[in-house]
Amino acid sequence: MKKTVLIAMTGLSMMFAGCGGGQKNTSTQSDPDIVPTDFKYEVDEFADLQILRYYVPGFKNLTLEQKELVYYLSMAAIEGRDILFDQNNRYNLAIRRTLEAIYENYKGDKNTQDYKAFEVYLKRVWFSNGIHHHYGEEKFLPAFSQSFFAEQVKALPVEAVPVKDGQPVDEFIKMISPVMFDAKVMAKKVNQSGGDLIVSSANNYYGEGVTQKDVQAFYGTMKDTTDLTPVSYGLNSRLVKENGELKEKVWKIGGLYTKAIERIISWLEKAEAVAENDKQKAVISKLISYYKSGDLKEFDNYAIAWVEDLNSQVDFVNGFTEVYGDPLGIKASWESIVNFKNVEATKRTEIISTNAQWFEDHSPVDSRFKKEKVKGVSAKVITAAQLGGDCYPATPIGVNLPNADWIRKDHGSKSVTIENIMEAYDAAGAHTGFNDEFIWSPTEISSMKEYGFITDVLHTDLHECLGHGSGKLLPEVDPNALGEFSSTIEETRADLFGLYFLADAKLVELGIIPNAEAYKAEYYKFMMNGLMTQLVRIEAGKNIEESHMRNRQLIAKWVYEKGKADNVVEYKVRGGKTYVVINDYAKLRTLFGNLLAEIQRVKSEGDFKTAKALVMDYAVKVDPKLHKEVLERYKSLNMKPYKGFVNPVFTLVQDKDGKILDVTISYSEGYADQMMRYSKEFSVLPTYND
Ligand code: ZN
Repeated sequence: MKKTVLIAMTGLSMMFAGCGGGQKNTSTQSDPDIVPTDFKYEVDEFADLQILRYYVPGFKNLTLEQKELVYYLSMAAIEGRDILFDQNNRYNLAIRRTLEAIYENYKGDKNTQDYKAFEVYLKRVWFSNGIHHHYGEEKFLPAFSQSFFAEQVKALPVEAVPVKDGQPVDEFIKMISPVMFDAKVMAKKVNQSGGDLIVSSANNYYGEGVTQKDVQAFYGTMKDTTDLTPVSYGLNSRLVKENGELKEKVWKIGGLYTKAIERIISWLEKAEAVAENDKQKAVISKLISYYKSGDLKEFDNYAIAWVEDLNSQVDFVNGFTEVYGDPLGIKASWESIVNFKNVEATKRTEIISTNAQWFEDHSPVDSRFKKEKVKGVSAKVITAAQLGGDCYPATPIGVNLPNADWIRKDHGSKSVTIENIMEAYDAAGAHTGFNDEFIWSPTEISSMKEYGFITDVLHTDLHECLGHGSGKLLPEVDPNALGEFSSTIEETRADLFGLYFLADAKLVELGIIPNAEAYKAEYYKFMMNGLMTQLVRIEAGKNIEESHMRNRQLIAKWVYEKGKADNVVEYKVRGGKTYVVINDYAKLRTLFGNLLAEIQRVKSEGDFKTAKALVMDYAVKVDPKLHKEVLERYKSLNMKPYKGFVNPVFTLVQDKDGKILDVTISYSEGYADQMMRYSKEFSVLPTYND
């Protein structure tokens, strides 16, 4: 988890918590700025995707300078979009620009199958920032014909076709068609499953002819094990082979992607001028300096300044950050989130952090594995104001940065919960029919309506602020002892810590949960999800691979099995449909505690054998019959398993001399309109970035 900085967005866990129309609000400022009752979250849907929008409560309560700051950072957040397209695959910009040209120039019948399929494909390319699925990483294929595509390209004005090096349009079509239509060409963006991981991955982090061995040798020699403050080698460059020599093409001013980076910097300079304080000013100036030099030492300086800036209300991520897109975890994709602190909701996480020692002392694990002195992570709750790059349109609900281990150890990390994004998921999920389909009775449904959102958020808070930081390894234990099972076990541990304490009277006493019954909403949801409904994300016939999904099933199955004798949790069938029923919540909590104690022991002792057995016995296998039933019931709801967001639009209000009077926010832009506008106003990279 140390390196895992974005909480994997499962979407689904949020989807079925009813919130009664999204009128919740967390601000108690004089003008509470709650979500308007007529605010419409749903924007569009196609393929396996649903597009939502998010409200930005509290924006209008910011000072004028803060609003300006948000505005400039938001512009900087959009400018990196092309970088990500190119990072994901070297033909992505060519394909996107061709599709957009067709979209704008098309004069034919828009009701044909081909055209309809064309629109869906373009929307998917926008969503995934390229031709590979944003979550599954596999290439998705157009459902329109290759001849339709060729015809449309030929019908375009010649200057609208993004040909390479002056090639004729026919040549261009020949070059691009297999990339789009041939399932075997560039089949996976990130291949994790054997063979040469670099050669078989279709991302653009490595040049042609570069092998996994090359990469490992190249970066292997850079590593100096005596360096206690190593830079993140290779983070901001493409590694290419030229005349048999390996060399890095760095993403910086004057290097690869310079045109986009120049624009990012120009907005950051404006942001710097309206920074809230000197610390924040220094953060922005260090980031600019790093973008100019590409020097990773400067990146670390920026990251340290950023993590130590705790007092500014406005905050942001902007840069080459997460390494999930590289099978070797070296190269970082470009992303951005602009946000500001939700002061009221952050009080909740501060209360949790301040009481960290109480929770540690009262956790059900063996005292040998407890920390004598525990420090809660200072997590804050934020309101997202703009999403960019790898956080757009699919976005995380939490972020924990920076990634460098030594910076985390020496300077700490920032952990955030993005509450307005969670709210949007929650509100959009409220009227899908999901709850009615899968939840056992009106009792659970109404508990979920009332407390589903707050207990879900609290569970995330406890998981992040306390769970990961709790407990300790025995002195002689190797931190990597659990090997490939470590991330599942670690997530299990953090989730259990949260579940166990969610039902504790202490939370009522601290005033952060409404009452002693509220936790049941999250318990029910967790069990239903872990035992049953999360299977909607797994294809028929497959087992569970993803580590968060594994951890949830591990917990749910284990407590189900162990509680069987007392009938704590059971499956009941009604009208041919299976439901999860919880008969004894108190005993369920005890079982969560028992498993937490065991998982902590496994971690503290580095007990690889038990870790493996727990994962293999409980977390991986799927009951095919139940799986089939769940998939069918889910299908009948016509829901989309993946969600993403359009951004709000900020506008400067200026007087005739250009003086800024205000920054307004609007929520009316549609999905295709936003994508097309971004492609016009924020698209300065060449189509081919060699
Ligand atoms: Zn976690």
